[in-house]
Amino acid sequence: MEMLLSSSNVKNINRRVLVVEDEQINREILGAILGRDYDVDYAADGKEAWEKLHADCVNYSLILLDLMMPVMSGYELLEKISSDPAVKAIPVIVMTSEKDAEVKSIRQGAVDFISKPYDMPEVILARCERIIKLYEDRAMIKLTENDELTGLYSRDFFFEYVKWFDAYSLREGKTVDAIVFNIEHFHLINEMCGRSIGDSVLKELASCIQSVFSSSDFIAGRPGGDTFYVYCLNSDANTSCIKKVQWQMANFRDDLKIRVRAGIYQNVDFKVEPEGRFDRAKLACNRISGDYTATVAYYDNELHLKSIYNERLIRDVDVALKNGDFKVYYQPKYEITSDRPRLCSAEALIRWQHSELGMINPGVFIPLFEQNGLIQRIDNYVWDRAAAQISEWRKKFGRTVPVSVNVSRIDIFDQLLEVKLQHILKKNGITSNELMLEITESAYADNAEKLIETVNTLRGAGFKIEMDDFGTGYSSLNMITSICFDVLKLDMKFVKNMERDEKSLKLVEIVISIAKFLNVPVVAEGVETESQLGILKSMGCQVIQGFYFSRPVPAEDFEEFIRREEQ
Ligand code: C2E
Ligand code: MG
Ligand code: MG
Repeated sequence: MEMLLSSSNVKNINRRVLVVEDEQINREILGAILGRDYDVDYAADGKEAWEKLHADCVNYSLILLDLMMPVMSGYELLEKISSDPAVKAIPVIVMTSEKDAEVKSIRQGAVDFISKPYDMPEVILARCERIIKLYEDRAMIKLTENDELTGLYSRDFFFEYVKWFDAYSLREGKTVDAIVFNIEHFHLINEMCGRSIGDSVLKELASCIQSVFSSSDFIAGRPGGDTFYVYCLNSDANTSCIKKVQWQMANFRDDLKIRVRAGIYQNVDFKVEPEGRFDRAKLACNRISGDYTATVAYYDNELHLKSIYNERLIRDVDVALKNGDFKVYYQPKYEITSDRPRLCSAEALIRWQHSELGMINPGVFIPLFEQNGLIQRIDNYVWDRAAAQISEWRKKFGRTVPVSVNVSRIDIFDQLLEVKLQHILKKNGITSNELMLEITESAYADNAEKLIETVNTLRGAGFKIEMDDFGTGYSSLNMITSICFDVLKLDMKFVKNMERDEKSLKLVEIVISIAKFLNVPVVAEGVETESQLGILKSMGCQVIQGFYFSRPVPAEDFEEFIRREEQ
């Protein structure tokens, strides 16, 4: 708060005061008192003042108003000012010699009064200064208190009000629910329809929340982006309120299919930090991301146990890195264009051999570590191990087995990404075409511009980029026209379903023809059977990765595949 208030300590320069006074002599006296510190404008009656107040490009910080004037009196002007939103925020000090008038004018909206005659210039100046500061501070607080776009509380103020709400609920012996709303694929609305449509969706959600919850005690905030918080007394009606908000949003515009997800943490534990309560509601909310059958998710015991498990994983990362509990496994990729499949490269995939919890698959911890940035340390570790392995195999077998490593969506934003990779290459004596980089297609939806920039930089430095999980995102077609890459990795979902469903088979065909058009090879992931391999080969897919050849295996076991190639 302190920081906010200091903004009005700026010198009085350029603040403009309007003196409304019919007597010339009084105008001159006030002008002499105020002119040193303020720009002063004058009006001889209420009508002239009203016109000046509405002139273009003029912003008054204060009005000094005489009451008895011809044409339009001070009282009339006060009344007009207090009912006009454009000017009612300007403070008015009334100048009068009658005691009764003071009370009456303050009732009508004046904030202070100065007694006539003006025989104490210092007091007048001090009063003006104090009122201006007070009003500017108030305006400043209002500005930061509310999220400018939606009018809901901004993050800090929301949590400030949560404290008050807690005190109130505890006093009344009531329980409280924390609710999180999130708009599914909001970034796509922004990207495809433009920011102003995106803004209108956010505003609509804020107004739906306010109108639907208006019959209960609640506070609402937008801590950022497309996430909204509601804190309200626990009630069975809350779920139907949430559904009402969702229904109204679904019908907001015919051309947009807006889906609002919600997570609710009921009867919050007051011992948990306020932010932690909303983290729990968010956890529930995230659980139904992409699940179109569920609209409201509850924070329950299962989620509670999961969050405890996740906290444990986060806590153990340091020790695990130190103890070498993270293992890098390698899965071979085979070139299938000739009669005999040939080993062409490998993908490095991490595993966590946890000392107490056993083997943990990346699907469990990678998404978790992506949320808190720990993924960067894991990835750096894997890149370094993979680079060392390439170098070791070269020495041992006299040939390079290029290894692809996964680059997480968080790494894309790292300004030092290229520097870090170059350092790893140098340290292990390998080159940028030996360590290939897999970037998941969904990173494009996060931030297309940044992804384009990063990919260009890395390709400029000689790295080969493989577009991972191609076909799963919503931006596949957009992406291929704006990014150059070297390999396309067909998502394994299509391979898995292609024998069962015609659509997946068609999609595989389309992706392979897109790759041909772009002149890049296709790697099909998740190939488990001979018949899948046959279909892919007949369609012109060049490289296969999957259990059909091998599961990901430790480096020692992988050496068997290299040896076999030599025979
Ligand atoms: P991905 O990069 O698409 O990796 C391929 C996943 O498919 C691997 O799962 C692999 O074991 C699995 N897979 C390969 N062939 C088959 C098959 O024939 N059938 C089936 N059912 N699965 C197959 P994994 O190792 O569990 O990794 C899952 C995901 O975790 C990876 O997907 C990748 O996105 C991420 N990941 C793994 N290691 C790392 C890492 O070091 N850094 C980052 N950022 N992400 C990683
Ligand atoms: Mg991958
Ligand atoms: Mg993949």
